[in-house]
Amino acid sequence: MASPAYVKELQVAQLAVQRAAILTKRVFHEKAKGTVSKDDKSPVTIGDFGAQALIISALRHHFPTDEIVAEEEADQLRSDANLRDTIWGFVQNAKLDDAAAEEALGGPIPNVDAMLDLLDQGKSNGGAKGRIWTIDPIDGTKGFLRGGQYAVCVGLIVDGDVKVGVLGCPNLPTDDAVKLTADVGANQTDEGSNVGVLFSAVKDDGAYSRPLTTGNVAPSREIRMNALSSTNGLAEASFCESVEAGHSNQTESAEIARMLGITKPSVRMDSQAKYGSIARGAGDIYLRLPVSATYQEKIWDHAAGDLIVREAGGEVTDTLGRRLDFSRGRTLAENKGVVAAPKNIHENVLTVVQTVLKVSP
Ligand code: AMP
Ligand code: MG
Repeated sequence: MASPAYVKELQVAQLAVQRAAILTKRVFHEKAKGTVSKDDKSPVTIGDFGAQALIISALRHHFPTDEIVAEEEADQLRSDANLRDTIWGFVQNAKLDDAAAEEALGGPIPNVDAMLDLLDQGKSNGGAKGRIWTIDPIDGTKGFLRGGQYAVCVGLIVDGDVKVGVLGCPNLPTDDAVKLTADVGANQTDEGSNVGVLFSAVKDDGAYSRPLTTGNVAPSREIRMNALSSTNGLAEASFCESVEAGHSNQTESAEIARMLGITKPSVRMDSQAKYGSIARGAGDIYLRLPVSATYQEKIWDHAAGDLIVREAGGEVTDTLGRRLDFSRGRTLAENKGVVAAPKNIHENVLTVVQTVLKVSP
């Protein structure tokens, strides 16, 4: 048997996400999260900057020539000494409690200037050739601020195809058997031993979940999507969507659910925790319906989740039925929205989506 592919990449990505989550969890419990506004008016926090610096540090140590497409950059920190020093404090204190695991990530970032330089190394334009890592250090920053769901996300794209995906979800139940309920997006905590999950997938090697730890990676379980049959109706199915109405059209999704025969209310939650949740069968369908004709989805918001769902037996396309195309640069320039569902009902769901959205391929 051929040796499994991307073993080292998977191991480094998982440890890097776990270490970054140590930092994001500390910031999650701070009242003042150091929130600043980006040019596009979206928020960014100490947690986003700190987690990104830690992840890039690990990737640079092991894969110095790979490209990186990451959401944040250091510009604002160069002119805000206060925020920069606060972040540096959190970064210095975020260490895995397993010495060998910490060592495996290449040790600490030497100083604050090195941290800024690392933060700025995620500016690759992406594209169709070569090895490109994509990082969303805190996906669902609005959820993070609200006390909802968020995810630390790393994906490896090789020649335009996602090969490795890792999602750390500190506020999701550890147990794959816990079904999503409509309130899962709100008032979340990461306290207690039953929350925190790390999802992962390698292309052609299945999708897995394991408890999110603060040390070495825990033993994993293979995850599968629910098998649903469209002939019995989807009365028992649950679908998820963004909390933010500005990210996905919630009026159209309600109409689609009604037409599919889904009787449960939608589960609204932030971040790629949605992809992880349907991949393990806690939910079934994820709809992301464009609210703006010009918005282009970012590759870091989808790479890991897309692979994890497909490896768990799902299909992920845009609203026109096209596979998500990660070869177009920093955005999914050739896609509109997302429709993710178990393979056997995906076409059915897509047909209804296209009817309601009045679009056709
Ligand atoms: P979610 O938590 O699923 O609502 O997604 C969060 C992500 O939505 C953020 O990381 C943003 O990159 C992205 N986003 C921002 N504006 C839009 C928009 N108009 N449509 C879709 N996604 C958006
Ligand atoms: Mg994001």
